[in-house]
Amino acid sequence: MKLKLMNQKMFLAGKWVTREQQIEVRNPEDNTIIETVPAASVEDMILCIEEAKEGAKLAAKLPIHKRMDIIRKAALYVEENFSKFATTIANEGCKTIKEARKEVTRAIETLRISAEEARRIEGKTINFDQMPGSETRHGYYYRFPIGIIGAITPFNDPLNLVAHKIGPAIASGNAIIVKPATETPLSALLLAEAFEYAGLPEKVLSVVTGYGREIGDMLITDPSVRMISFTGGREVGEAITRKAGLKKISMELGSNSPVIVLKDADLDKAVDSTVSGAFWAAGQNCLSVQRIYVEAEIYEQFEEKFVEKTRHVKVGHKLKEQTDIGPLINEKEAVRVERLIKDATARGAMIKAGGKRSGNFVEPTVLTNVNRLDPIAQEEIFGPVVMLFPVGSLDAAIAEANAVDYGLQAGIFTNNLKAAQKAIFELEVGAVMVNDSSDYRIDAMPFGGVKGSGLGREGIAFAIEEMTEQKVVCFLDD
Ligand code: NAD
Repeated sequence: MKLKLMNQKMFLAGKWVTREQQIEVRNPEDNTIIETVPAASVEDMILCIEEAKEGAKLAAKLPIHKRMDIIRKAALYVEENFSKFATTIANEGCKTIKEARKEVTRAIETLRISAEEARRIEGKTINFDQMPGSETRHGYYYRFPIGIIGAITPFNDPLNLVAHKIGPAIASGNAIIVKPATETPLSALLLAEAFEYAGLPEKVLSVVTGYGREIGDMLITDPSVRMISFTGGREVGEAITRKAGLKKISMELGSNSPVIVLKDADLDKAVDSTVSGAFWAAGQNCLSVQRIYVEAEIYEQFEEKFVEKTRHVKVGHKLKEQTDIGPLINEKEAVRVERLIKDATARGAMIKAGGKRSGNFVEPTVLTNVNRLDPIAQEEIFGPVVMLFPVGSLDAAIAEANAVDYGLQAGIFTNNLKAAQKAIFELEVGAVMVNDSSDYRIDAMPFGGVKGSGLGREGIAFAIEEMTEQKVVCFLDD
């Protein structure tokens, strides 16, 4: 099969269309233009929603074995064009080729799980006779698709996070309109090709390229779009939540992840894992390690090893095999992260590694002596910056870890079962990794946050739950 990435086109209700207004897709490494895609208009979105009404009927009627076949075939298409997908992710986004390959592998897995989970969409019998007067009733509930799903995705995982919306939506018999990140629409368009190749009925899927602030409102507020599945920053997520009204919303937002390292931990393991967790994708990862609380007795040793390891993280050209991390997604983001570092140091923070920006690249940066109430400690950095704090006890570490308005995932390094259990119960997050950094995830697990990190859960089976509703059926015998 041959890839045809539709230059200057978007995938509108099963058709590749172009528009005069185009958006430049740039390689963040050197700002060169690698492609252009249409800047969809509100009218495009209206058309798309209209077509999706028909698409929703077609999707709901697809028997489950056909949904499974289509999703499996799309997964195969991604697998057979692995390197094209990987280089597209690396070129348009901030990931290195090594990181991009991992994302493609995960996206294939996401699609395969979606196909598998389609067969497990189940209901249950209901014992109506538990209620006096209902002895002659019997019935059950089953799950039905909700109709049209609007999906809005971020730049940092431009393929897998789109697969996380399309896979479960199709598995559960819904139509879906995806608005991919403005910076990284190409991977999403390639995935649309995969579903076109796989024989998905026209109108079930659209990938509409454009500016969120221009076309987003139409998708969010149209009453026939029954759910908004959003992954992105907190500010945009909160604005969408306010506008969406009475429809389902799933909000996978940012975080400011803590990791606790206790004195009995395997120090080398903790260092390796947290350095990788802090700097993967140059910190542009919702799970990235941002704050590390280390028990005072081992703090100096930890800091020394951590800083040494950080100095070996290679920043550079994304397509080179030896590069560990690439640039930030654009200059605005790189300047924002640089400013956070400068503001923190102006208030007494010390730079133990990195700290400098060059173009869109920011060095892997380790800060100590950070004021715990500074924006850099309270907000999501979304860049290659990590803070180390000594703590006197586990209680203090948990209190500090919880003292931000985010809660996606956390990690704790310890061999003390009681300490681990305490952290599991008391950390205010959606997942706790024991003896691993906060950034571990597989696509089958329930995934989502508390507090400012969002609402609802993804992970294929759980996304399918969010994308379906229960319908009760009750038979009354004579
Ligand atoms: P962003 O919030 O700026 O943009 C996300 C998407 O929203 C993009 O497609 C954008 O075009 C669109 N958008 C922007 N303004 C809009 C509006 N007014 N109406 C509708 N849509 C609009 O996020 P980003 O910078 O692309 O991504 C980084 C953020 O995503 C970080 O905060 C990160 O933590 C978060 N994220 C969360 C998860 C998760 O699963 N929890 C995963 C990856 C990234």
